[in-house]
Amino acid sequence: MLPTSSMIPVEEARDRILAYFSRLQPERKPLLEALGQVLAQDITAPFDIPPLDNTAMDGYAVRAADTAGASEANPVELRVIADLAAGYVLQTPVGPGEAVRIMTGAPVPPGADAIVPFEETDEALRGIDQAPARPGIVRILKAAKPGANIRYRGEDIRKEATVIPAGRVLRPSEVGVLASIGLTHVDVIRRPIVAILSTGDEITPPGQPLLPGRIYDANAYSVAALVRKYGGIPRILGIARDTVQDLTAKIHQGLDADMLVTSAGVSRGDFDVVKDVLAREGSIDFWTVRMRPGKPLAFGAFTAPDGRKVPHLGLPGNPVSSMVSFELFGRPAIFTMLGRSDWQRPTIRAISRDHVRNPDGRRFYARCIVSQSPDGRWYADLTGPQGSGMLTSMSAANALAVIPEDIPAANPGDEIECIMLDWEHAP
Ligand code: AMP
Ligand code: MG
Repeated sequence: MLPTSSMIPVEEARDRILAYFSRLQPERKPLLEALGQVLAQDITAPFDIPPLDNTAMDGYAVRAADTAGASEANPVELRVIADLAAGYVLQTPVGPGEAVRIMTGAPVPPGADAIVPFEETDEALRGIDQAPARPGIVRILKAAKPGANIRYRGEDIRKEATVIPAGRVLRPSEVGVLASIGLTHVDVIRRPIVAILSTGDEITPPGQPLLPGRIYDANAYSVAALVRKYGGIPRILGIARDTVQDLTAKIHQGLDADMLVTSAGVSRGDFDVVKDVLAREGSIDFWTVRMRPGKPLAFGAFTAPDGRKVPHLGLPGNPVSSMVSFELFGRPAIFTMLGRSDWQRPTIRAISRDHVRNPDGRRFYARCIVSQSPDGRWYADLTGPQGSGMLTSMSAANALAVIPEDIPAANPGDEIECIMLDWEHAP
């Protein structure tokens, strides 16, 4: 027996779904592979960064007091006792009247307390390969303050300090910080494996000839691409025919995943056997969600042979409905498994340039292009016809304009809230 339910709001559906998901176990990964994943433990610095006081400029390490009163008219002459490249340490102290020629990153030798950049010495006035006016002597043209151009030990990161806290999503800058403290691997929350099953006698895998009445399987690929984009690992199971046997067998193949996503066969009054099989094989609710596209949705769980519960998201079959539903429900589920709570997308209030009808009391997610006009204002343009089978309405869009349940139409000039799917594709 199928449980009956009336239309539920999007938020309620999402809350009920997310209650089934939690953060997955950590795994150890090489730094670069951990990009985009969530750090599983606090990272503390094993040593100070930088590890030694060092110079921020190419120049001369000096005793600042020696340079007092120096000017172009009245240069101070210092004896150059060594030439120090980055990567080498000089033990010999810099004594009064002495200087060490030093390259960016090299540790400041003992005794010196300031770096005079080349630009403030006679080295800048002569050609790079030209000998100094007096051999072994540098002329300082400007007085240096103590500490000038020195990067102090530990000024970036102190030993034992938390460098990156657990829960942080690793971006390129975090990867760089982890490398800078010498790590090669890091513990991150593992990526969820999402099994994806298309259903329907009419569905044909791309690459095979298309028989009359058949269509190619768009959903498995669009959903797999979303799974990958949102940080999961998609596993396409193929296509289940609308028979109890085939569907049951294919579902069983997906039970080692962290989540099973099916598409089609969940609408009311469907001839498909999908609903029956889902209900028999797991604990499944069939919902009608107060949204368009994508009213029918199934959600529940199957039990894997090892007793583990595998959450199941049953998407509607129409390709746009399937993508929009995955966006609203599948993405937060993946984020939750990744240990991320930041699944809410940024929104922009844009001025509609179209008349958008919303007559049936559902929340309408209209595919649109949000762009900024030269006057600085943001506008939303629908991407043409909005049929839930028209995938091009989705591929042309960079946002979903949200027309609330109680708003029967948005008129040109009205401000509408747009969920940004793709900033990078803003025209
Ligand atoms: P259904 O939920 O089975 O009634 O399917 C609704 C609509 O979505 C029908 O027009 C199906 O042909 C279409 N559809 C179902 N599955 C897919 C798929 N994997 N790729 C593209 N269209 C599909
Ligand atoms: Mg079908």
